[in-house]
Amino acid sequence: MTSDYEMVIGLETHVELRTRHKIFCNCLNTYGAAPNTCVCPTCMGLPGALPVFHRESLLLAAKAGLALHCTVHENSRFDRKNYFYPDLPKAYQITQFYHPLCEGGYVDIGTEQDQKRIGITRIHLEEDAGKLTHTPGGLETDLNRCGVPLIEIVTGPDLRSAGEAVAYLKKLRSILVYTDVSDCRMNEGSLRCDVNLSLRHPGAPLGVRTEIKNLNSFQSVERAIEAERARQAALLDAGLPVVQQTLRYDQKTGQTHSMRRKENSADYRYFPEPDLPPVHISHSELSELERSIPVLPDERRSLYMRQYGLGGYAAGQIAAERWLAELFEKAVQTAQSPVALANLILGEAFAQLTLRGEETITICPEHLAMLSNMAVSGRVNSTTAKAILAALFENDCDPEKYAREHSLLMLTDENLLRGIAQEVLLQNDALVQSYRAGKQNVAKALMGKAMGACRGRADAEKLRRILLELLNA
Ligand code: ADP
Ligand code: MG
Ligand code: ZN
Repeated sequence: MTSDYEMVIGLETHVELRTRHKIFCNCLNTYGAAPNTCVCPTCMGLPGALPVFHRESLLLAAKAGLALHCTVHENSRFDRKNYFYPDLPKAYQITQFYHPLCEGGYVDIGTEQDQKRIGITRIHLEEDAGKLTHTPGGLETDLNRCGVPLIEIVTGPDLRSAGEAVAYLKKLRSILVYTDVSDCRMNEGSLRCDVNLSLRHPGAPLGVRTEIKNLNSFQSVERAIEAERARQAALLDAGLPVVQQTLRYDQKTGQTHSMRRKENSADYRYFPEPDLPPVHISHSELSELERSIPVLPDERRSLYMRQYGLGGYAAGQIAAERWLAELFEKAVQTAQSPVALANLILGEAFAQLTLRGEETITICPEHLAMLSNMAVSGRVNSTTAKAILAALFENDCDPEKYAREHSLLMLTDENLLRGIAQEVLLQNDALVQSYRAGKQNVAKALMGKAMGACRGRADAEKLRRILLELLNA
């Protein structure tokens, strides 16, 4: 019975830092350049080339640590992790093993009512390896990524489901993008994740775990976890042991496959990196970093609920992404109804993004607020609001002006509507006479004609009231 098992998950997440240079040389840290064009003797690992540590990586890693509530150590060190693989020409990776930069933080997931705290054991700095592509012509090696600065963020074995793992990753990404530590583009590999997973009976000690390497989308994290849970449960049900090993998840088959037996740290012969001095970050540098951290998503979410009356879901959606939160916060200054503004953004504006295959809304926030206000005050109906929004996506402009120029505004002016109604009554004297003779439902026909005269854009309530006033006069 698979349902008898409790799943235990710990995540190791690699995040590329958004620096100008690679971590130990002067090559640029870029993505998408032609293979092997951003390399030098140091990052290619040529004999005799020595690393020089760029502090911009240290500052970003420390900022990540502070944003994730870690203790950031003023003193840390680099170590050598020895292994051979074609993507690592030096045959060792410079990382932090014995003395990592950050320890003991956390990420909160879930809602205020139903919150769970995921512990972060450590965050360390290290260099990325190159990239191998298997092609029909053979193995292609691109060393551009060698020496790109990474942080590895390790959680405690605190997660209990695929849903929690994805919620943690989403929150982590949100915080790291907010703080400008990384762009966290999973499709470009700047955020990738290893899943450690074991099963146990609730209350029993931790079971034997396997590790699934290098997952690069939320969907594959979710599917790999479910596939591995099923694989381990079947073994345990059959009375067979789970073997500690490193696995690869195959998106095509939806299965996990063995890559190699799990190494122990002894296999890597870690030792302190002799080519680099110890790392120091001062108390005042840390305080300055602390001050540079913007208000983070959880705090913004509760602010939006408290101050603007948004529901928890909408508030969370808007707070999750910095560009979106900043757009909303500017627009809400001039919005009559923050809730209507949020609905416009999360509804029609997001639909436009999907339709256009774009990532961010570039319409000026004041224009969004104006459009929302026009809808709230009934000056446009929902169909025209939608049309105006689509036009703003195409070519941002003043929505009032656009609506006027394209005759999209609702006619609400009392005198204007009264004039039109009078005109219609004059032209339909026979109908008016029969209404006054007692045929009440003739009013409907007259209303239709009046609306027609307004080309469908009249405030219907108002027009009906005025028309009846005139008929009954
Ligand atoms: P390693 O360095 O060998 O990968 P760590 O002890 O650093 O091992 O743990 C790596 C990750 O595995 C951490 O996120 C940790 O929480 C998780 N983990 C450790 N033991 C288990 C277990 N029995 N089941 C699930 N996850 C585990
Ligand atoms: Mg590991
Ligand atoms: Zn280089």
